[in-house]
Amino acid sequence: MNPSKLYVIPIQLSDNSLLDPLLAYLTHDFGVPAEILRRELDLAKAYNVERDQYYSSMILAQLIENPPESAFRILGVTGLDIYIPVLTYLFGEAQFKGIGALVSTFRLRNEFYGRPSDAQLFEERLFKEAVHELGHTFGLPHCHYPGCVMNSSTDIDDVAEKMVSFCRACAQIVRQDRPL
Ligand SMILES: [Zn+2]
Ligand SMILES: [Zn+2]
Repeated sequence: MNPSKLYVIPIQLSDNSLLDPLLAYLTHDFGVPAEILRRELDLAKAYNVERDQYYSSMILAQLIENPPESAFRILGVTGLDIYIPVLTYLFGEAQFKGIGALVSTFRLRNEFYGRPSDAQLFEERLFKEAVHELGHTFGLPHCHYPGCVMNSSTDIDDVAEKMVSFCRACAQIVRQDRPL
């Protein structure tokens, strides 16, 4: 079977209504059908009591264990606060030239920063971070082209600086790896 699907695995999301728009956006952007995949994960393994956060790499490792043959890419979307030991938090993590990526919605909502709720802005941030992390799975490093979705974002205001799409050079690399 051809690896022809982009699977999205929801992990502890407080609001599942973000999934349909995300699936539609990813299908459109990557030209590969995006669908929900349900997986039971052992999140206790990734939980760090002292930090009250979840170790991103340990979740990512579980996402890509025994992937379905039809999996072109696997994207975990979690409501949990994630980290890696050298950073205080992450918006997401991905396997460079791999199959798996993970994004967290925990710090993407305005409310987290004491700002007025903005559903559209939240959705836009989620799309950007999802596309960004998936971009790494295609072997894309951080890109300096102004506005490219592969610009690195260390805080929420950096996310605003970039577009939801790849610059031409990055888009070309992604296109070469399409299954269809
Ligand atoms: Zn990145
Ligand atoms: Zn770029």
